[in-house]
Amino acid sequence: MLSFFMQENNIFIIVLVFAYFFNEKSLLSRYETIYSQRFLSIIYSYMHNTGKKESEAGKTQFEMHKTLILIKPDTIARGIVGDILSRIEKKSLKIVAMKFIDMTEELCREHYAHIAHQPFFPKIVSYMTDGPVLALVIEGIDSVRQVRNLCGATDPQFAAPGTIRGDHSCTIDYNLIHSSDSIASADIEIARFFITEEVFQYTKNVYVN
Ligand code: ATP
Ligand code: MG
Repeated sequence: MLSFFMQENNIFIIVLVFAYFFNEKSLLSRYETIYSQRFLSIIYSYMHNTGKKESEAGKTQFEMHKTLILIKPDTIARGIVGDILSRIEKKSLKIVAMKFIDMTEELCREHYAHIAHQPFFPKIVSYMTDGPVLALVIEGIDSVRQVRNLCGATDPQFAAPGTIRGDHSCTIDYNLIHSSDSIASADIEIARFFITEEVFQYTKNVYVN
């Protein structure tokens, strides 16, 4: 409560409301002049954040949505799937679908269309088709960004310690996991690997999400 009144922006709003309520013209004109610039900047910051992609806004998000994870063949071969599932659960995200899939070259071309022209693409195809892939749908507040944070940077050499890639890999050739990079691509990717009936709804824990 006290911290609410200590914030400069909130004091400004309270003074203005008070002034309007008691028709305090002198107070109003004084504060309106002093703070008109500040008022515009508050409005601008709200507009600015609303227009941005969720993962870039840098503000607390409250939207519940789903995201797709592919646990890649190296993770399964190395026997560290459990650690990854555990991180997802400990973050209080909900696993609503999970199954093994065989990534074909055709699926790789569709899923990685944005890098299919790259010289390293054949390497990605042989990596992703080297063994089974575990596909998951994860649900939770701000889940796209939360899961990307758990994964860490694309290149494990630059991924922060404490992230999946930062803790378990040293090379971009074997970076363990895929996750959707936006809510829009999550919707497309989930539909690529799952039919509606495979995605479950259930209550996990009343204290989270
Ligand atoms: P992902 O889509 O797998 O979650 P990402 O979104 O972090 O990863 P993208 O740019 O979409 O990164 O790249 C897709 C995948 O292509 C990477 O995860 C990695 O396996 C592979 N990749 C990307 N860049 C390179 C590269 N320079 N050399 C080798 N492989 C690469
Ligand atoms: Mg990607």
